[in-house]
Amino acid sequence: MNADIIIIGAGIAGMTAGIYAARAGKSVLIIEGKVLGGQIVESQRVENWPGELAISGEDLSKKVDEQVKKLGVTVVYEVAEDILNDEEGEYEFVIKTDETDYRCDALIIATGTGPRKLSEKKMAEVGNRPVFYCATCDGALYKGKPVVVVGSGNTAKYEVSYLENIASKVYNIHHNEPIPADAEAVFVAIGRIPNTSFLNDLIKLDSDGYVVADENCHTSQPGIFVAGDCRTKSVRQLVTAAADGAVAATEAVRYLG
Ligand SMILES: Cc1cc2nc3c(=O)[nH]c(=O)nc-3n(C[C@H](O)[C@H](O)[C@H](O)COP(=O)(O)OP(=O)(O)OC[C@H]3O[C@@H](n4cnc5c(N)ncnc54)[C@H](O)[C@@H]3O)c2cc1C
Repeated sequence: MNADIIIIGAGIAGMTAGIYAARAGKSVLIIEGKVLGGQIVESQRVENWPGELAISGEDLSKKVDEQVKKLGVTVVYEVAEDILNDEEGEYEFVIKTDETDYRCDALIIATGTGPRKLSEKKMAEVGNRPVFYCATCDGALYKGKPVVVVGSGNTAKYEVSYLENIASKVYNIHHNEPIPADAEAVFVAIGRIPNTSFLNDLIKLDSDGYVVADENCHTSQPGIFVAGDCRTKSVRQLVTAAADGAVAATEAVRYLG
């Protein structure tokens, strides 16, 4: 399927972009590599989404999904692997996924961030122990067992307090400290990195890999817009992701004329 606008990523930024682009009368395709809703699905309780006193990330994502589908937006579950200019000239861009090719005239990158991985040296120390990046998702597997959380920021602290209600013992170490011998699983919380490696040299990224963008969500390449946590910005939250989605889609519609 080809579309006027393709959005890569079905987090809150991508889905909001889908809502705005569809309501503007454009055909819209969202390509999502993992789970609809993106990273907020990991959160059990969101208290700063306007209009909801408290809601789980999963329930919030389901509501937005319903809204997106009702507007006729198509979502496919594939991983975008490359973006090329359409040599055949019928469309502007070709998006190559792990399954097929899609074509569009305007593209919105909304691929968010993923957890930063342990170094190779640290992984060698981890050995055969399983490694997880979300205590809420996987902590229950270690009921009554000793685990370790690697990391020292707020997320790591949250992971520790969550696991303390489940595991027999929770060690909390810095990345450069040794992993306790009896820990049966390793939970990693050492920050996040943007999911932008597949963009290669297509658009300008900053030194940390975030897509360089102005406040109108324009990238260095005409016709390619960016929304949400994967772009240069100072506040990475749901409402700013949603705001970016609205801006990027509106700019994409304007670009298409
Ligand atoms: C545990 C946790 C709790 C949080 N709590 C809050 C909170 O209470 N309030 C708040 O405001 N914010 C919270 N945040 C932050 C908030 O979740 C993010 O700011 C927001 O979800 C970012 O949305 P996004 O759409 O930009 O990116 P993401 O949610 O990261 O979505 C990006 C999507 O793109 C997909 N993708 C990536 N690469 C590809 C590819 N190559 N091909 C296809 N698809 C791809 C991913 O699978 C993902 O679904 C929390 C984050 C976490 C991790």
